[in-house]
Amino acid sequence: LVSRMRTQVDTVVTVKGVEIGGGKPVVVAGPCSVETPEQMEKVGAELQSQGIVIMRGGAFKPRTSPYDFQGLGEPGLRMLKQIGQKYGMAVVSEIVSPSDVEMAIQYVDMIQVGARNMQNFELLKAVGSTRVPVLLKRGLSATIEELIYAAEYIASRGNEKIVLCERGIRTYEKATRNTLDISAVPILKQETHLPVLVDVTHSTGRKDIMTPVAKAALAVGADGVMVEVHPEPTVALSDAKQQMNFAEFEAFMAALREGRMIP
Ligand code: PEP
Ligand code: MN
Repeated sequence: LVSRMRTQVDTVVTVKGVEIGGGKPVVVAGPCSVETPEQMEKVGAELQSQGIVIMRGGAFKPRTSPYDFQGLGEPGLRMLKQIGQKYGMAVVSEIVSPSDVEMAIQYVDMIQVGARNMQNFELLKAVGSTRVPVLLKRGLSATIEELIYAAEYIASRGNEKIVLCERGIRTYEKATRNTLDISAVPILKQETHLPVLVDVTHSTGRKDIMTPVAKAALAVGADGVMVEVHPEPTVALSDAKQQMNFAEFEAFMAALREGRMIP
């Protein structure tokens, strides 16, 4: 179903009126985690001022350590939705459990399946049984073929509103948090008809190279990029090192606009 053999026409996924894959690159931005109403209020105002139309924010956080902040859960989704409505943005958030899908779609316009759950087949079937757009991230050690089959799981349940996301894979290289597989973008575009985003935050884990990496992603045909933005990254409850502050985000957006990479 997701294969390019089925159609030469690129699929456009519409998230609350916002098109992904329609030829106009999108920037999905927002904090790693939803933390407080004050934090979300600041983020919402900043993103709106930068013309962002899709906001991200995690409420169920798949953390490496069980002692790290696990996310606010449903109250976090409620907060995300409220700020999204106030500032006119669609919202996307990760869901980790099939049993939370029904609850979550009351709040989110797009469900994120995170890298660690790319092959959680019960979750894929659950999101496939909804008609809510899905942002499917590539697994930490997943091949491109496995990512495509994960998308097929979702589509096979009747939900074809799928956006793929390259977010870097595990290699021996330590200079970046993960190794961004830039060639995955044109390969996914060639092998499937689905839109493709690149998460420049989790792939690089480095704010100093986010702008050139985002430009590269858009240059090879990505339909947009995802970045993490936080009002005070140093005190963020997750991914404190890699989230951009507002000044950094504004410089990032200005660079993409100047390079005519985004409208
Ligand atoms: C995220 O986007 O919030 C996230 C946890 O990313 P990933 O699943 O790609 O590690
Ligand atoms: Mn993060």
